[in-house]
Amino acid sequence: MDFEAFFKNELEGLHEEGRYRVFADLERQQGNFPRATRYTEKGTQDVTVWCSNDYLGMGQNPKVIEAMKGAIDHCGAGAGGTRNISGTNHYHVLLERELADLHGKESALIFTSGYVSNWAALGTLGAKIPGLIIFSDALNHASMIEGIRHSKAERVIWKHNDVKDLEAKLAAADPRAPKMIAFESVYSMDGDIAPIKEICDLADKYGAMTYLDEVHAVGMYGAHGGGIAEREGLMDRLTVIEGTLGKAFGVMGGYIAASHALCDFVRSFASGFIFTTALPPALAAGAVASIRHLKTSQIERFAHQERVRRLRNMLDAAGIPHLPNPSHIVPVIVGDASKCKWISDLLLDNCGIYVQPINYPTVPKKTERLRITPTPLHSDEDLEHLVHSLHQLWSRCALARAVA
Ligand SMILES: *Cc1c(COP(=O)(O)O)cnc(C)c1O
Repeated sequence: MDFEAFFKNELEGLHEEGRYRVFADLERQQGNFPRATRYTEKGTQDVTVWCSNDYLGMGQNPKVIEAMKGAIDHCGAGAGGTRNISGTNHYHVLLERELADLHGKESALIFTSGYVSNWAALGTLGAKIPGLIIFSDALNHASMIEGIRHSKAERVIWKHNDVKDLEAKLAAADPRAPKMIAFESVYSMDGDIAPIKEICDLADKYGAMTYLDEVHAVGMYGAHGGGIAEREGLMDRLTVIEGTLGKAFGVMGGYIAASHALCDFVRSFASGFIFTTALPPALAAGAVASIRHLKTSQIERFAHQERVRRLRNMLDAAGIPHLPNPSHIVPVIVGDASKCKWISDLLLDNCGIYVQPINYPTVPKKTERLRITPTPLHSDEDLEHLVHSLHQLWSRCALARAVA
């Protein structure tokens, strides 16, 4: 086989469909978030980042940076092993305690990333619980889908956020079979939020365990940053809460929080936990500092919500259509893959505004969008520059306006 020709041909297909991914080559500027230096063939350019998942700017928080530097000075660079063979550093232990406390659970277990935590935890639970049926929301993240698929457990997909459909599917299943409902709180592309209480009620009624991905909510919602389940007083009703340290906490890594027995079970059986090097101690130390800070400080959460409201009001005033939702994600729908890419390129090259276009298959065709994520560190001037630039491009591109 001509392997090179095969690879090139497959890539050509992506180009033709307009979904070949081009990375922006950025250098984040310490202490100057959301500003970054962009490297191009022509040189460098200062840009304002409008699509970061560092939702609160904690990746630039001085306490977090100091904690990471301190841990490097104290422990060196890497963990030096898997968790089982010399790699468990005291910072990992502190981090797991902090996370268990954050979610009101007995225990927590950290992984290399949120992706790996979903893949390994769902994969292990699905493979090891005999006869488990996993009821998976239709819009669950790729990492959950892959974990469920890998587990080879029976999978039933229910309509996104539709508790009637979920109940119909639970009722149709074998009443004796063990069941799990797997879903997210904030869905990252539309920014809508699951009816967690209703789903927990169904879980009780049908004897199912629940697995909630709070990746886009931890740090940002609830009085201590425990997520939507904390805000709604529902944490104790969920069997497993999964989260990331890479988004609002600004560092890297993923975790599950659950009972002592469940965490110990995943710790003892999950290949993706056991056979991989532990996170560098400095990452764990940075995460501990970030979580502790957001457990007590409301400043970032309040400022974040205020920036989101303000951006939405400004977009409304300019007639730029955006999906209404109860979260911090502001999807501006373009509805055409090439126009979406074109607008994004112009914003970047001409205005120094970086918003990555989101196209199929991340979102359905005809709903291509700019997914804007304002942070507490975007200034009034940043907001005005963004909305003014979008306003001009909307006219040039003859895109539909929202009717006020
Ligand atoms: C980003 C994301 C993950 C993966 O988290 P990482 O820490 O980035 O690997 C998991 N679930 C959802 C819903 C996500 O959006």
